[in-house]
Amino acid sequence: MTPDLLEAGAQRLHARAAQQTTGQTASGGHAAGFSRIRTSQEVDVSHGRILYLEDVNVSFDGFKAIKHLSLDIAPGELRCIIGPNGAGKTTMMDIITGKTRPDSGTVFFGSTIDLLRHSEPEIAQLGIGRKFQKPTVFEQLTVYENLELALKTHKGVRASVFFKRGSEQAQRLIEVLHTIHLQDSLNRQAGLLSHGQKQWLEIGMLLTQDPKLLLLDEPVAGMTDQETERTAELFLSLKGKHSLVVVEHDMAFIKAISNTVTVLCEGAVLAQGPLAQVQADERVIEVYLGR
Ligand code: ADP
Ligand code: MG
Repeated sequence: MTPDLLEAGAQRLHARAAQQTTGQTASGGHAAGFSRIRTSQEVDVSHGRILYLEDVNVSFDGFKAIKHLSLDIAPGELRCIIGPNGAGKTTMMDIITGKTRPDSGTVFFGSTIDLLRHSEPEIAQLGIGRKFQKPTVFEQLTVYENLELALKTHKGVRASVFFKRGSEQAQRLIEVLHTIHLQDSLNRQAGLLSHGQKQWLEIGMLLTQDPKLLLLDEPVAGMTDQETERTAELFLSLKGKHSLVVVEHDMAFIKAISNTVTVLCEGAVLAQGPLAQVQADERVIEVYLGR
């Protein structure tokens, strides 16, 4: 597939999307034009942190799911988070993405953006992408169409005729297709992909937004060993360009990608360090084996 053909395809899809969306909003389609405007806030990582949580607490009906949680992530870092079921791993991601509000604590993106002052869609716009466990690709659309839609869509707000078009867009999609190793499947219907390929496609959809921070919750669950290995390669290739926080149970996968591992237990950090070190930690062994 040549770039020209890709671009022709992109333009066709663009025209179709524009036709479908024009006039569908309350403002006759005009509101959609604002969807690509990013906030002017840049992430200030001069203090060596892209994400910073301090003394965060969350209760659900009196049950303390997160207790005095503190954590920081360096720019370009790939951090792995492990911990038993119910440790608060998903809740931590809910807090970072604005889905759950903590009762107290500090959550900063870089050293200047207070995430607790932003809504879930705003946080996505600021450059924090999240991948949930279950793939949510559009099964009837092709791989390419899924990526195209993701490029133009930000958290459900559909861009229309105002969107930047043409070669720049096609170029970005080609890059993403290569990154996720689906360049040979671009015309394949997403519903026909393997589970692992769907997961990669969804990661690709996030990558079209060029997120600064990516949160991935159990990305290799249900994958074959070979798919898991390829996912490890993918994540290693993303590291440096993006910061990644990966929650996983698969220890072979963690071993392949990890530098620093954080062990969460009962809503707080139990241990942190290289995988071998946390695996040898008595308290960690206790929570995994001791009950
Ligand atoms: P993990 O992802 O580490 O398995 P979770 O963050 O999903 O753990 O859950 C942590 C704890 O908080 C669990 O005991 C869970 O039942 C509870 N919890 C999570 N979300 C809610 C909610 N919305 N309402 C009530 N309890 C919740
Ligand atoms: Mg979870």
